[in-house]
Amino acid sequence: MVAPRLVLVLGDQLSEEISALCAADKARDIVVMAEVAGETEYVPHHPKKIALVLAAMRHFAASLEADGWTVAYTKLDDPGNSGTIPGELLRRAEAHGASDVIATSPGEWRLITALEEMPLKVHLLADDRFIASLDEFDAWAEGRKELRMEYFYRQMRRKTGLMMEGDDPAGGKWNFDHDNRKPAQADMLRSAPMQFTPDDVTENVLQLVEGRFASNFGTLRPFHFAVTRGQALRALDHFVKYLLEGFGDYQDAMLQDDAFLHHSLLSPYMNLGLLNPLEVCQRVEQAWKEGKVPINAAEGFIRQIIGWREYVRGLYFREGPDYTTRNVLGHDRALPAMYWGEETRMNCMAHAIGQTESEGYAHHIQRLMVTGNFALLVGIAPAEVHEWYLSVYIDAFEWVEAPNTIGMSQWADGGIIASKPYVSSGNYINKMSDYCGSCAYSVEDKTGPDACPFNTLYWHFLDRHRDRFEGNHRMGMIYRSWDKMNEDKRKTMLQTADAILQKLDDGETV
Ligand SMILES: Cc1cc2nc3c(=O)[nH]c(=O)nc-3n(C[C@H](O)[C@H](O)[C@H](O)COP(=O)(O)OP(=O)(O)OC[C@H]3O[C@@H](n4cnc5c(N)ncnc54)[C@H](O)[C@@H]3O)c2cc1C
Ligand code: SF4
Repeated sequence: MVAPRLVLVLGDQLSEEISALCAADKARDIVVMAEVAGETEYVPHHPKKIALVLAAMRHFAASLEADGWTVAYTKLDDPGNSGTIPGELLRRAEAHGASDVIATSPGEWRLITALEEMPLKVHLLADDRFIASLDEFDAWAEGRKELRMEYFYRQMRRKTGLMMEGDDPAGGKWNFDHDNRKPAQADMLRSAPMQFTPDDVTENVLQLVEGRFASNFGTLRPFHFAVTRGQALRALDHFVKYLLEGFGDYQDAMLQDDAFLHHSLLSPYMNLGLLNPLEVCQRVEQAWKEGKVPINAAEGFIRQIIGWREYVRGLYFREGPDYTTRNVLGHDRALPAMYWGEETRMNCMAHAIGQTESEGYAHHIQRLMVTGNFALLVGIAPAEVHEWYLSVYIDAFEWVEAPNTIGMSQWADGGIIASKPYVSSGNYINKMSDYCGSCAYSVEDKTGPDACPFNTLYWHFLDRHRDRFEGNHRMGMIYRSWDKMNEDKRKTMLQTADAILQKLDDGETV
């Protein structure tokens, strides 16, 4: 009899068409799936994230078995669980007399290295659930002075044909962002993302997570995420029918009593493999073709996926394993306790973090222009910021989280992703949200103990990094405004910012 091969399916590879399964033989090979402490504990993941991954894994394993596969599944609390992915592969190899492993390349350098170092023959296959292969991304990037997402996105539009009219973009423009910067109003009639009631399999996982991860930051219940492909498809349908229409207009808006607005909450399902990014975009394109949603909503949404999502993945792998250690600005402040739920007087931070704690979710602008903006302005060590984002978000996997955090949000890669740092004063937050009206600080004030911290920290950041950013053609104007300010005012603002930084260092509430 021919020895079976082991077919590794990781917790974010839950797609029937994953390359490892496509290359395997149902009659001969054994699928290995394992819940291991090494993966659930390497950062303090949000309990909802752990529950989502484990519940989706268990449902996926059951569907593979129903489809005729032999699955060797390790539960987190199984006796004999070795605690690591390589350990489980070795255990299964010994039990089944296997020496070959077929695996789809993981989305994280840490695991790729671990598999490559195994004393088994590991055949790593490309993860082809993306629109651009890594080679294609490299070919696009090679020799370019600047790797701007917009140009990569156009290539992806041409490749997929999404919203194209021949060689031209539908509507005569590649990008309708100009229409997409509207603040939102509270709206009692706005739908929320679709919710699902946990079945017995998920309930068992919730109890397991409750028992083992009670001290992790984040609230486990209520838990309403989709855990199967069928449910994720229903969540996609629901989004397209009820929420997509306003996606473009309100993409950057923030409301304190509405965590989701018109966002899709589909990132966890795409990242786990329950939904394929192209099918999501095709569904959105179809709604636009049928005249159900405006062009700015459909284009804006598709751009996030075939543009940003593909682009950050390409960069993560192109930049190599040391990407998460980059720190071009030399920031070294410790992450303040408010990020783990301790008190803050800043209403925007309290809401973005509070919502992260309860939902495992914050939308892009909350991540970028509230929590990310503050971390960058006060100079937190990027590695700490990276670990926080990787821990607390339900959709956080390193290939997508790290470039967004290290590159886009913290400018720690020296501008590979962002041509200028994403920093702002309180003005931007006030324009795009309803946070400031009920804040202990005054967004109008630029100095004094009640001045919005963003207002003074913004100038402090620009002032202390002047040598680096003054020559940036997108920032010259800002420095000219700073120089035109009265010298006393500048001094007082810097002193106010210094006082805030001192408070952070002393562990006091800001
Ligand atoms: C500091 C920081 C950390 C982030 N960490 C993650 C992460 O760990 N995982 C993750 O999937 N996204 C991450 N993002 C990107 C983005 O914030 C999330 O994809 C988005 O908020 C997910 O919510 P949604 O599905 O409701 O998105 P929507 O607003 O509905 O957008 C639609 C889809 O577009 C994709 N998308 C949008 N923006 C990006 C982007 N910048 N990069 C990649 N894909 C994007 C997502 O797949 C998302 O589902 C991060 C952004 C920042 C600024
Ligand atoms: S005033 Fe400043 S700190 Fe308060 S909510 Fe507005 S931006 Fe945030």
